[in-house]
Amino acid sequence: MENIETIDSVCTYCGVGCDIAANVDTKENKIKSIFAHPDGVVSQGKLCIKGKYGFDFVDAPDRLRIPRIRKSFLEKNPTIKDAIGSSLVELDDIWYETNLDDATTAASMKLKEIQANYGRKSIASIGGARTSCESVYLFQKFTRHTLNSPHVDNCARVCHSPSLSGMKRTIGEGAATNPYNDIYNAEFMIVIGSNTTEAHPIIANRIIDVARDHDNLAVFDIREIKLHRFSKYKGIMPHEANLLTLNMLAYVIIDEELYDESFLENRTKGFDDFKEKIMNDPYANPNYYNEIEGYEYLSKMIRKVAREYALKKSMIFWGLGITEHIDGSYAVMAMVHLALMTGNIGKSGAGLMPLRGQNNVQGACDMGMLPYFDPDYQEPKEVGLMTPQLVDEMLEDKVKAVLNISEDLTHIHPNLNKVNKAFEKLELLMVQDLFMTDVAQRADIVIGVKSAYEKTGVYINAMRRLHLSQPLVKSDLPDDWEVIQLMDNKMGGDASYVSSEEIWREVQKVAYRRFSGADYHRLEKHRKRGLQWPVHTEDTPILHQLDFRTDDGLGHFHYNQYKLRGMIKEIKEKKLTGYHLSTGRTIAHYNNAAQTSRSESLMKRYDEDVLLVCEEDAADFTSDRVILRSEFGETTPLTIKITDKVQPKTLFSTFHHAKSKINALFGDARDEVIMTAAFKTIKVEVINC
Ligand code: SF4
Repeated sequence: MENIETIDSVCTYCGVGCDIAANVDTKENKIKSIFAHPDGVVSQGKLCIKGKYGFDFVDAPDRLRIPRIRKSFLEKNPTIKDAIGSSLVELDDIWYETNLDDATTAASMKLKEIQANYGRKSIASIGGARTSCESVYLFQKFTRHTLNSPHVDNCARVCHSPSLSGMKRTIGEGAATNPYNDIYNAEFMIVIGSNTTEAHPIIANRIIDVARDHDNLAVFDIREIKLHRFSKYKGIMPHEANLLTLNMLAYVIIDEELYDESFLENRTKGFDDFKEKIMNDPYANPNYYNEIEGYEYLSKMIRKVAREYALKKSMIFWGLGITEHIDGSYAVMAMVHLALMTGNIGKSGAGLMPLRGQNNVQGACDMGMLPYFDPDYQEPKEVGLMTPQLVDEMLEDKVKAVLNISEDLTHIHPNLNKVNKAFEKLELLMVQDLFMTDVAQRADIVIGVKSAYEKTGVYINAMRRLHLSQPLVKSDLPDDWEVIQLMDNKMGGDASYVSSEEIWREVQKVAYRRFSGADYHRLEKHRKRGLQWPVHTEDTPILHQLDFRTDDGLGHFHYNQYKLRGMIKEIKEKKLTGYHLSTGRTIAHYNNAAQTSRSESLMKRYDEDVLLVCEEDAADFTSDRVILRSEFGETTPLTIKITDKVQPKTLFSTFHHAKSKINALFGDARDEVIMTAAFKTIKVEVINC
């Protein structure tokens, strides 16, 4: 067909970062199909259903195309209304439409007033993990330098911040150590807290391939997941047992002297102290599982897994099942300890693989969209607040304006009743997004922007691979960085970039330790293979080969003891009552489903959040739909599904659809180090409808 052109790019959804190719009708300016790039190093010829079918959002009829301003905002701010009044067109009872220039003028006028009334720290910028590196770099630069506020954060706060903190503290770098294809070189694999076939399907393909051939997989989760079918060791743990289990693995390695003495001697420090603490910790001995009714079998299994892990070239994979707990950072450190003890790091087929979530969450962190790091993880001159702290400051009338790029704060964060109250107190909420998401519906100013399939920019996937994305279709909408640049100029800044490439050149200078050799030309040339940071004359597929990226080049041990609590405590005290809920993803949707819910084929597959209930508990569920209630909030009615895949007295639900209000159930329980919400367990009451 003469109008069809095939264009390469990168999938817009998850952190796997699959290389895609799209057939585009250039005359109609329309994507006709998306498929795995035939030479795709990441996708290896396969995409999951999101990547393949989830592109209808690009020309969905409800794409945000014209900036909006809330009527009540202008009623409260008559000076602003006077300044931009001529462009306002009534849309409905709630919104006016306007043009980009006036929308950003309105936002900047209000920001100046807020700065004058409440000070520079009354403004925060949140988001950016779904936009390009160039846009997120400019977002943090604008906030830190032009607005002079230290408050920047991104959605790593509700996912992998504990991976960054735990790995940075021990080995100096919070990122996957190896390329995905190293999975084929692994002799043994542990997957813990990751429903990989649903959340990172194209990585799961590799793990399954290897496990089928070599029977070398251990999977630990709180429920039976698909990956268990391919595992030699099928570990199903009680809720909140990650740190407990991981410390037990370390205990066995020490107890049976399976560690690598030469690696410990030459590459690490702190092992003697670690060893003493762990051998004196009653929770670290795997025999402890003999005291937890229903889970006694784990005691023996942990010994066997520890032996295989220690004596073979091994990799560990984890997801939010590890990080979204009060001890998420400690559990990450516990996995690093395993690698350090056995020398399972710094070589092919052995390493640590945090399976990161959003398509550019690695890039957002690399660009400094974190309150405690400048770009390239340099120390900032002033540390800002993390999102949960910002919510508290909103309630105290200290933070009065939030600028948001594509992070649905009132859906994907916990304690939604509290978050909503906090957002109601803001004097300005400005959102850049593709659709009227939950948070956009609460905003004062909303600006529609280009999607990833309409723009040029660098995205960094979960294995540190840079991919220069190119537009599949044309769009008149602004890129995120163009909106930020307008805001910058109106707030007194002098940003004057003419292209994303010009911004990237600056990133290469500022973050030269990571990106000095990764200019657009080279990224274009290596589009197929991609380049893994640090990229200088060569790129770096495997980190930590000679030394760690800590100040002294050594890997550090820091022991953290498991604390008895929750479900395990209840089992031990024979007081297991009520239900413990955990949440996670389904393959058909991505996070708040803003994009995937615009796809008919994905919605046909999964159009509501379904609650999984154990067969043994079915008698408690007398209706087809139930409301869940916790001390913090309640859901709307959820359809139940009886299954043998969850444990007694436990429940599981996805969280994709805003109408379910699952996240209203969760409170302020969070990772003790880095404040990531403890989404993986909450005690709930079941109310039959
Ligand atoms: Fe896209 Fe992730 Fe699916 Fe790959 S695995 S196609 S990156 S959603």
